[in-house]
Amino acid sequence: MKIGVLALQGAIKLHQAHLEALGAKYIEVTGEKHLKEIDGLILPGGESSVMLKLVDIVGLGTELKAFAKSKPVWGICAGAILMARSVSCPIQPSYNVIDISIQRNAYGRQLESTEQIIDGYYVSFIRAPRILMVGKNVSVMKNLNNDPIWVESGNLMVTTFHPEINNATPSPWHIHFAKKCKGGS
Ligand code: GLN
Repeated sequence: MKIGVLALQGAIKLHQAHLEALGAKYIEVTGEKHLKEIDGLILPGGESSVMLKLVDIVGLGTELKAFAKSKPVWGICAGAILMARSVSCPIQPSYNVIDISIQRNAYGRQLESTEQIIDGYYVSFIRAPRILMVGKNVSVMKNLNNDPIWVESGNLMVTTFHPEINNATPSPWHIHFAKKCKGGS
């Protein structure tokens, strides 16, 4: 199984150890040819406004949307912002592949970033967004303080936190996503 990570900006390389620990091949996605060879794609955390510009520069926007219609995609933090139907604070374009509204930097600046234990595993919220609304086809998998932090719709998965920074590999979410990529859930 091959799982790609969009490799234009952000927390890319940290996924390699998690993916290899579960027996998947890690592919850095920088162009259309990589999308053709992977079974699932991670849109990593980083800076969504910068990632949007870089996706435009490499001309991958249409291909990313098409990929999300047929194969599993997991958006983490900035990646979640790219996948949302609408984005606020500030308003910015997005790929509208999952029916959620999301507010950027909703918990404050870098100094307000936190680590939390979710399902017994340390994860990081780094200038994290808040999911404000989920559509009827979207399932909330986990809440924290009444905010959805992990949601799914079919093959599409969103977490507002980063699990990949924890070096206990593979993280529960990498395992869960890999099952989707195998066609398992
Ligand atoms: N604050 C960033 C944004 O708006 C997301 C931060 C992250 O991905 N950790 O894009």
